[in-house]
Amino acid sequence: MNGKTVMACIDAAHASLKAHADEIASLDQAIGDGDHIINLLRGMDALAALRAQIEAEAFAPALKLAATKVLSTVGGSSGPLFFSMLTGMARASSDDGGAAGFARAFAAGVEAVGQRGKTGAGSKTMMDVLIPVAERFSALADAGASKQDALAELPRVAEESMLATRDMLATKGRASFLGERSRGHIDPGARSSQLMIAAVCARLAQDEA
Ligand code: ADP
Ligand code: MG
Repeated sequence: MNGKTVMACIDAAHASLKAHADEIASLDQAIGDGDHIINLLRGMDALAALRAQIEAEAFAPALKLAATKVLSTVGGSSGPLFFSMLTGMARASSDDGGAAGFARAFAAGVEAVGQRGKTGAGSKTMMDVLIPVAERFSALADAGASKQDALAELPRVAEESMLATRDMLATKGRASFLGERSRGHIDPGARSSQLMIAAVCARLAQDEA
């Protein structure tokens, strides 16, 4: 894992967000202010412009560089949260390039998002995708699963978890202003996180194949 891998993952996430831009915009129009996809694509465009610098770095500094750019470009509630995800992962990254090392880094990223957003599971946010994925990832790693097995399994966990936000009551972020009317809509941040996880897993699985 190095800066080139980080950039390849960013590219994969970027392409998936672009392909689902209208859908994510509609989700945030329904229970937020509609800017979530604009915020994310602004960040992704800025990261694409940093390609040469990100690719030249090792894994952890590449994540930190991306995080700093995300913080200064994404905005909204989600900018600082994605910054925390990336810096949390960078801090916990290790020389273990297998499933266990990755699972630990991902879990640390998710924990950092939780601290920043003061949210756990059940508030109808991106955490309702990130937490179950981190937990399954750690369980798979503890059980000795290969990276390839984890990369196949985690997108399924992310999708189920994203769909489960539809019936939740929002108690954090803008959607919480709607109270009961927040039910019946998938959380935009849960959808964007799930799409990025699926795209990154698919991209990393190519390297394992
Ligand atoms: P804003 O809500 O400020 O317009 P965005 O539209 O970019 O910001 O992001 C909205 C998404 O951010 C929500 O769909 C939700 O998933 C996520 N979110 C909001 N508040 C929190 C929080 N405290 N913890 C985790 N995620 C949150
Ligand atoms: Mg918004």
